[in-house]
Amino acid sequence: MKTRLNGPFVVPARDIVRHPGEMREHSFSVALKEQWGEGIVSYEVGAEFDLEVRLEAVHEGILVSGTADAEYTGVCGRCLTDITEPVEVEFQELFAYPGEEETDFEVQDDHVDLEIVVRDAAVLSLPFQPVCQPDCLGLDPVTGERLTESAEIEQDAPIDPRWSALQQITDQGNTADSRAPENTEES
Ligand SMILES: [Zn+2]
Repeated sequence: MKTRLNGPFVVPARDIVRHPGEMREHSFSVALKEQWGEGIVSYEVGAEFDLEVRLEAVHEGILVSGTADAEYTGVCGRCLTDITEPVEVEFQELFAYPGEEETDFEVQDDHVDLEIVVRDAAVLSLPFQPVCQPDCLGLDPVTGERLTESAEIEQDAPIDPRWSALQQITDQGNTADSRAPENTEES
């Protein structure tokens, strides 16, 4: 049997084609060869998609359902910080047998090519307003600085007193050292 389909998202269905009720599960990973999505967040070239796919033979064709775990990257829509966030994409589509009925997707050479199905679902899963964290405060309208970043510095504040305490000790030490030779000379 010739196999014309050989894309990274092509899954064989030969052993269940025209056997309604049969089911197969496939797990595989694909690294993207092109970017998916064109917003301020997208799936970069090389982004890894971990797929869990279930193929079920039904009367009209092969019903494909599954999930893809991936990460999108881009910038926070409020403060422009670089972000990388995990996302679970769900998809389901009927691949009809050729000539059966008018559908968007067909079983070809006893294979199903999931690329467009997964891509469309993945792009739809991208947030319209991505944020680095749900309560990102965005940019200060006056200074243009990241308000969340200054909030994070405040959260780290407990470290600062210790550093300043160390700094004081060091300063005192330096002062004592610098005085010591004077004292020695005097005595
Ligand atoms: Zn942000």
